[in-house]
Amino acid sequence: MLPDFEFCCDAFKKYGFDLNQNSYKKFCNYSDYLVEYNKNVNLTSITDPTEILFKHFIDSIMILHHVNIPVGSTMIDVGTGAGFPSVPIKIMRPDIKITLLDSLNKRIVFLDSLCNLLEVDAELVHGRAEDISKKDEYREKFDFACARAVANMSLLSELCIPFVKVGGEFISMKGPSEDISIGFNAIELLGGIVSRETNYSLESEERRIIEIKKISQTPTKYPRNSSQIKKKLL
Ligand code: SAM
Repeated sequence: MLPDFEFCCDAFKKYGFDLNQNSYKKFCNYSDYLVEYNKNVNLTSITDPTEILFKHFIDSIMILHHVNIPVGSTMIDVGTGAGFPSVPIKIMRPDIKITLLDSLNKRIVFLDSLCNLLEVDAELVHGRAEDISKKDEYREKFDFACARAVANMSLLSELCIPFVKVGGEFISMKGPSEDISIGFNAIELLGGIVSRETNYSLESEERRIIEIKKISQTPTKYPRNSSQIKKKLL
């Protein structure tokens, strides 16, 4: 069970967010369901409710604090796992249209029942990003792609940038230590440019949001298939 409403309101306020009763209820149900489901299906190593509050829920929504996301934007969450960051984002900003993508079907099955439970509207896609972004209905169709804790900056760029429309953005959530310059070549080849890097701390832990603007179409040869990707980074 998440801490009480007052505690959660204070925690959200500390990071610049207002929490209402309706959203609080959804976060409580999310936390309870995640902890229960996680007993049988591996979804997260974080199971203490107060840690879930900060390390999953508030961490996920920090995107809303640092990135301008216009009303009605579309967003694909690549390697969403148990729904992070986009399900907490959707709870705070129901106007954003989210697509949840993961290569592990057991995670998509969890997300399907979670979204029903929370009455959260989301498109669920099971598959590998490098296959799904080749399909017409997903290629360069999103205002935003986001990803947290999925891969290094080079690989992640190849998985995410093909989904983004020219003029849109890929938002990468990173810890403090990764050298993001290993992704610079990939970002350029895929039609992106690093437009902003924001550092912030969450309960004394350093975090970064890297924004990559899509400035030109991704050449059709990208993303490469998974065996080529594994052999050599761009
Ligand atoms: N984003 C979530 C978070 O922050 O808690 C989950 C992170 S988890 C470490 C990485 C997730 O990415 C896993 O659920 C995995 O199945 C998924 N994944 C890894 N490679 C992928 C790919 N090529 N396409 C789609 N999903 C992928």
